[in-house]
Amino acid sequence: MSQSEFFNRQSAILAPLFVLSGPSGVGKTTVVEEAIRAVRYPLRRAVTATTRPPRPGERPEVDYHFWSVERFVDALDRGEMLEHAVVFGRDYYGTPRAEVDPYRSAGVGVILVIDVQGAAQVRAKYPGDHRSIFLQVPSLAELERRLRARGTEDEARLARRLDTAERDLARAGEFADRVMNDTVPNAVRALTQIINDEFQARGYEPCLTS
Ligand code: 5GP
Repeated sequence: MSQSEFFNRQSAILAPLFVLSGPSGVGKTTVVEEAIRAVRYPLRRAVTATTRPPRPGERPEVDYHFWSVERFVDALDRGEMLEHAVVFGRDYYGTPRAEVDPYRSAGVGVILVIDVQGAAQVRAKYPGDHRSIFLQVPSLAELERRLRARGTEDEARLARRLDTAERDLARAGEFADRVMNDTVPNAVRALTQIINDEFQARGYEPCLTS
């Protein structure tokens, strides 16, 4: 079956929406990218918007839409955002609707990699129509080690991220599924299974071999 035949056949059923949260530094990006390659269904990570500056190596429109505060507030005023939050008390982050609805209608599943505040908004807007997953870290000490190894934050930002992480970890129980990121292969395997199961439950047939 060609890809377009596949999408036409399945577009009657809205493709699933996944929300993945977890503390900063737990490894969400790596795990999601590998899971997207491993799942047997069409799945895309939504490119979300942020007002924080790009880190070295981050690509605009691929890793994030890097927006000015004015642009972000305009998008909010026009009702273009599915959810948004001020993360770490300073920067806006949010999901443009255009990154979600058109893909789901075309049979492509969407995964949002967002913070716990955003996840709560999605829960309120799409009750029963999304699968929420919390990526857990073995300990706060391990999280600090990973954040320091990443080397992207100065001490003040690192302290703020650790402080937020502690509060985020206390909210893991709000999520339908919890996946422990003790090792990347374990976490990828568990997340891939959850995603494959959700597509299957919606009657989707696998289109790719893993
Ligand atoms: P970072 O600055 O490390 O890229 O992201 C900081 C935090 O913001 C992460 O927990 C990330 O998942 C979250 N985040 C990224 N995009 C969004 C978004 O669109 N909405 C919300 N609520 N959080 C986001």
